[in-house]
Amino acid sequence: MCCLLYPLRNALLYRDALALAQKDALTGICNRAALDESLHAEVNLAGRHRTPLSIVVFDIDHFKSINDRHGHSQGDIAIKAVVESAQHCARSTDMLFRYGGEEFVMILRNTTLNGARLLADRIRRKVEKLECQGKRKPITMTVSAGVATLESGETAQKLFERADTALYAAKNSGRNRVCVDEV
Ligand code: GH3
Ligand code: MG
Ligand code: MG
Repeated sequence: MCCLLYPLRNALLYRDALALAQKDALTGICNRAALDESLHAEVNLAGRHRTPLSIVVFDIDHFKSINDRHGHSQGDIAIKAVVESAQHCARSTDMLFRYGGEEFVMILRNTTLNGARLLADRIRRKVEKLECQGKRKPITMTVSAGVATLESGETAQKLFERADTALYAAKNSGRNRVCVDEV
C-alpha cells in the first residue's frame, strides 16, 4: 500500500500545481498561459467543425489614474469587480482570461462577429454602471474592447492581433467603446 500511496500523492500534488499555474491569483480566472493553450485548441476545433469563433479583448480605461486616486488595494478590488461584471454577461461556454494587468480576453465558441460585438457592448455598459465601493468615494470605471472573428485558415496569434488592434482603435477613438475588426 505504501508503495502506491506516495506516487499517488505526488501525482495529485503535481495535478494541483499544474492547475494553479493556469490561474490568476487575484481574480481566480484563467491566466495568460491558459489563454495561449485554449485559444490554439479552440481555433483548431472551430476550423475542423466549421463553426464560428470570436474573441473579445477588453481593457480598463485610465486604470493607472484609478490606482493613483484610490490606492493599489482599491485598484485590486476594482479589477475583481470588472471580472465579476464580465462573467455576469457571459454564457457558460464563454471563457474569460486575464491577459495581464487590467486587460482581459474572452473566447466565444460558436459566436459570430455580431454576437461578440453585442456581448462586448453588454460588458462595456455593465462596467460603466458599476459603482465599486472605494475607501472614501465610489470607484467608477469604463472599459474599451476590440472584437474579431476567426477567418478561414487563420492562426490563433493572427486572430488575437486583430482583436488587439481593434482594442487600440477603441482606445484611440475616445475609450469606453467597442471596435470591431472586419477583414
Ligand atoms: P489606458 O486607458 O490606455 O488603458 O490607460 P491605463 O492607465 O489603463 O493603462 P496603463 O498601461 O498606463 O496602466 C495600467 C495600470 O494598471 C498600471 C498598473 O500599475 C496597473 N495594474 C496592473 N496590474 C494591476 C493589479 O493587479 N492591481 C492593480 N491595483 N493595478 C494593476
Ligand atoms: Mg488600461
Ligand atoms: Mg492595459
